[in-house]
Amino acid sequence: MILPIVAYGDPVLRKKAKDITSEYPKLDELIANMWETMYNAHGVGLAAPQVGLPIRMFLVDTTPFSEDDELTEVEQKQLDGFKKVFINAKIEDETGKEWDFNEGCLSIPDIREDVKRKPEITISYLDEDFKPHTETYDGLLARVIQHEYDHIEGILFTDKLSSLRKRLLKSRLEKISKGKINVDYRMRFPNIKKGR
Ligand SMILES: [Zn+2]
Repeated sequence: MILPIVAYGDPVLRKKAKDITSEYPKLDELIANMWETMYNAHGVGLAAPQVGLPIRMFLVDTTPFSEDDELTEVEQKQLDGFKKVFINAKIEDETGKEWDFNEGCLSIPDIREDVKRKPEITISYLDEDFKPHTETYDGLLARVIQHEYDHIEGILFTDKLSSLRKRLLKSRLEKISKGKINVDYRMRFPNIKKGR
């Protein structure tokens, strides 16, 4: 089932999300619905707060990025078929010199901005079977994981922009929160006026 994606301005996107246990109700169904929702919106990642749930879970499938001709063959192979569920994730370490990448977000349609992040991360998490993993990623894989990880910390990529960029985007972000935007997937807007 395709779930509505929560738009910028909804308080759920600002909560530090909570860990879950394997007893979490209908978790398999939620994960299946989140995959369906993410693919329907042509995203490469989706975090639970974006479907209204303040829990520490996100999904990543970087396959669409693997078709980028500017990447090396090694990078393309790394991204192709990288599909994972991250539960109760914690970034243990972030290293290297910050680099810019043009990011977007399903909760903030039509806005893309260069965001600086460190290139390498070590993350521990549970998979969908609640098996623990600690892994190190770099490049675009790290980038997508960092973006989704921010969502479970209540952080959006627009928070990381300069104060000038933020000022310039302010009215567009307000429009998004009011639903004054054309988007080809299902969304839920926090500041939509009802009955008009
Ligand atoms: Zn996002």
